[in-house]
Amino acid sequence: KRTPLIAGNWKMNLDHLQAIAFVQKLAWSLNDAKHDFSTVEVAIFPPFTDLRSVQTLVSADKLEIAYGAQDVSAHDSGAYTGEISGQFLAQLDAKYVIIGHSERRTLHGETDDDVAAKVKAAIKHGLVPVICVGETAEDLEKHGQSAVPVAQLKVALDGLKADADVVVAYEPVWAIGSGQAATPEQAETVGAALRAVVAESLSADAAAATRILYGGSVKSGNIAGFMREPNVDGALVGGASLDIAEFAAIVRYQK
Ligand code: 13P
Repeated sequence: KRTPLIAGNWKMNLDHLQAIAFVQKLAWSLNDAKHDFSTVEVAIFPPFTDLRSVQTLVSADKLEIAYGAQDVSAHDSGAYTGEISGQFLAQLDAKYVIIGHSERRTLHGETDDDVAAKVKAAIKHGLVPVICVGETAEDLEKHGQSAVPVAQLKVALDGLKADADVVVAYEPVWAIGSGQAATPEQAETVGAALRAVVAESLSADAAAATRILYGGSVKSGNIAGFMREPNVDGALVGGASLDIAEFAAIVRYQK
């Protein structure tokens, strides 16, 4: 059985001092509520400059909160000004890395091939890629709901081993930061289509093990509906992950 994953993508919010205070309070809140991290895994994705501080806090206080970066270079090292290697993230005990978020695809011109190269780099360095896919409102109108995310995921998984450890995040671009989430039924339809891609590209075992998250205007008020769907194994939360009480309530969606 897949362990649900509730992940907070902070985007470009919270500096390293704010991150320390935030993670401490989030941990207190979840510990007070006796949250069982083995039942619902929790991960946060702070900016790069916060990661060392988060590592120090998490290791000193033995917190069960996992963390990762919001992007990674396709390269290991060298003349790539401004890039961050997966090796550096692994040295900071990052478990995950978000790859191919729609904001990187649209604002930074990342292509499906760039995403595929970054996925390979992440796996090479022992990180679990959180591969983001999703259609724009225009794609939805032209091609229906699943076609674009399915095509994006096929490229991202191309050439990986049959037992590759990945997380997939379905984030319809029209639902990100819009307050207009997809319906649980829509998330389930695309989630099932994406799981079929994992089965085809990797293996049946990988498809059974891979967590498929929904992202886009997730809040404490709508999370439970998504989590009831068999092909939704968690959420990638943006705006609502910056509010400790709200994020903790999303993590505790079963309560
Ligand atoms: P919102 O939750 O703010 O819609 O953002 C979703 C997202 O982009 C997470 O990666």
